[in-house]
Amino acid sequence: MTKQEMIDALMLEDFSPIYHEADRIRKEVKGDDVFVRSIIEFSNYCTRQCKYCGINCFNQNVARYRMPLEEILDTAAQAIAAGYRTIVLQSGEDPYFNGDNAKRLGDIVRAIRALPTAFESEADGSQPILDITMSTGELPYEALSYLKDCGATRYLLRHETSDPKLYEFLHPCGTLADRIQCLRNIKTLGYATGSGFMVGLPGQTLASIADDVILLGTLECDMAGIGPFISSPDTPLEGYPNGETELTKRAVALCRIHRPELNLPVTTALGVLNPEERKDAFSCGANVIMKKVTPTKYKEAYQIYPSTIEETRIIEDRQTLDNMIRSLGRKPV
Ligand code: SAM
Repeated sequence: MTKQEMIDALMLEDFSPIYHEADRIRKEVKGDDVFVRSIIEFSNYCTRQCKYCGINCFNQNVARYRMPLEEILDTAAQAIAAGYRTIVLQSGEDPYFNGDNAKRLGDIVRAIRALPTAFESEADGSQPILDITMSTGELPYEALSYLKDCGATRYLLRHETSDPKLYEFLHPCGTLADRIQCLRNIKTLGYATGSGFMVGLPGQTLASIADDVILLGTLECDMAGIGPFISSPDTPLEGYPNGETELTKRAVALCRIHRPELNLPVTTALGVLNPEERKDAFSCGANVIMKKVTPTKYKEAYQIYPSTIEETRIIEDRQTLDNMIRSLGRKPV
């Protein structure tokens, strides 16, 4: 689809033919598997000023925490025992782990890599038994390379918005060019590369959403997280309207059509606005779901946007998710 065709599609009264096409492509290219990933939010310290984010450095109402290594490992071990084959390590841009301190992040990756797993290795040994995905913000090339050597296999870094002016308004201490360069470095280093964007940001246009979709192709992304913007208290965007779930699902569908081989999660933010929409997004092209395994005691402090705090029960939560996926006629992996 051209950019103009995408814009026209996003405005359609009846989008259902495009949803059907996205679902058909998903089935043809990705099959019925739904990849279930676990996320550990191991630190909410952040030096960035992202205007939408509840853990930005100016928010004084956040109790900051860093999970100790042993607790991260215990959580990862429980996730592996529950059947997860991917551990996503997410944090703010925490100086304790950045720059010269990247070794601390590397120690976490190495220790998780050393955990025993009960999974069968791929017969040809080509696939790692466990994927370790980093979601720790922009890092210099050397740190990215070091983490790869330590055993990280994937990296998630959303470009957030492809509109440079909007990007710079939202991120007083970053540029879109730097973000994109970091994504290119991630790709060059051989990580499975994930970008993505928010839908419904103040001032965002349909044309810039089409550019967001196109950028995923330009960057040759392997994964893309697309979620609605959710207004967060104690941030400069408090009180702004939330992004629309319908528009978000349309953007997911366009991504599936534009870049069929993408791994596309049904994002948590979509479920926060409407839990039913999360299920529904599986018929719009998505084939991945993420589940927080962060210990309950930290969840209140990792509110990037307001959401109901659910107690973490790693084994039971995974079973519930698997049952939900099977009820949709799909196969949890
Ligand atoms: N610091 C890392 C980074 O920048 O990639 C990872 C953590 S960051 C909190 C993860 C993602 O949360 C961001 O990429 C952003 O898209 C999303 N996010 C933050 N605040 C949000 C909000 N108010 N509404 C929707 N998504 C939000």
